[in-house]
Amino acid sequence: MTKARTALKKVQRIVVKVGTSTITYPNCSRNFARIDKLARELADLHNQGKEIILVTSGAVAVGVERLGLKSKPKTIPGKQAAAAVGQGILMNTYEKFFSEYGQIVAQVLLTRTEVLDRHHYTNSRNTFMTLLKQKVIPIVNENDVVALDDLKIGDNDNMSALVAGIADADLIILLSDVDGLYTANPSTHPEAKLVPEVPAITPEIEASAGEAGSGFATGGMATKIQAAKAATSSGISLVIASGTEENAITRILSGEAVGTLFISRENRLQFRKRWLAFGARVAGKLIVDAGCAKALQKKGACSILPAGIAGVEGTFEAGHTVSVVDGAGHELARGLTHYGSAELAKIKGHKSTEILELLGHKSYDEVIHRDDLIIL
Ligand code: GLU
Repeated sequence: MTKARTALKKVQRIVVKVGTSTITYPNCSRNFARIDKLARELADLHNQGKEIILVTSGAVAVGVERLGLKSKPKTIPGKQAAAAVGQGILMNTYEKFFSEYGQIVAQVLLTRTEVLDRHHYTNSRNTFMTLLKQKVIPIVNENDVVALDDLKIGDNDNMSALVAGIADADLIILLSDVDGLYTANPSTHPEAKLVPEVPAITPEIEASAGEAGSGFATGGMATKIQAAKAATSSGISLVIASGTEENAITRILSGEAVGTLFISRENRLQFRKRWLAFGARVAGKLIVDAGCAKALQKKGACSILPAGIAGVEGTFEAGHTVSVVDGAGHELARGLTHYGSAELAKIKGHKSTEILELLGHKSYDEVIHRDDLIIL
């Protein structure tokens, strides 16, 4: 077993993506046997203490079947209408199978806004964290009904990379009708071999993936490589494997050489801390009181509450990166703030129980959560 595969045994938070062809038949009806196996396997991994996020396609196909259409609609409103019909049925199906295995699920529909807009990003991130803490398996799809053009991510491979980033996952597993990355197009080159591990995505690999739906790209290899690139460059490894492979997820998580593993050079936490420390633009400063400064120096990362904040510098919004300094201006830490500078001016020095009264709303007790803080 290679070092990179062995490391997968330790993976804790996983995004699993299933493609339409994995959970439906060519006639668009649901493949209950497959969905049942998937729910059973994910519920079992969850029982072992893993945290799972499922990204699922299939809304359009299931809608097409329920509406009795002969083929997938060509127009955008047609596709959106089919997705609107299908999404509910899809969730109902997952709900049925997952509850059979004692597992709670949640529907999460995302658009590009959640990635581009800081406020939405922070909110969806906190929703994922809360669901995972409550031992729920979030089931994600694109909000096809509202997602148009510039708001659309377009494919669930890239969506999986975005979700893994938002939710700080360690690994993405893309299950579809391809076994992984091959050295050449296996349908025209029978001698083509499956590549078990990709340490770096070279321009040749990107070029060989081609465009979705053409030649080598049958099964959408292009979007999978894009997702792998986005994931590995932000500290997340990714595996492409076949959705028909028995117990593929469990076997991947036990280090078995299933599919193609795109190796990330550092783990997500290291990446996140490095990004917070050096990559993110610092939008302002929080000056903390002596008690809070001492706690940060002694205890390491702890959440910063409004009570410990003595002053605020700069103009920033919730979700921005701020620098945490002591009374003498020494930078102690950096982190993502849950409150903007205008709100902080009102709540600084106060107890968290007073936030609601002071602002008229309260999203969080802490200004910076310890998970979003790096001590410098
Ligand atoms: N969101 C689409 C659906 O559920 C699928 C997108 C994709 O297949 O990547 O039908």
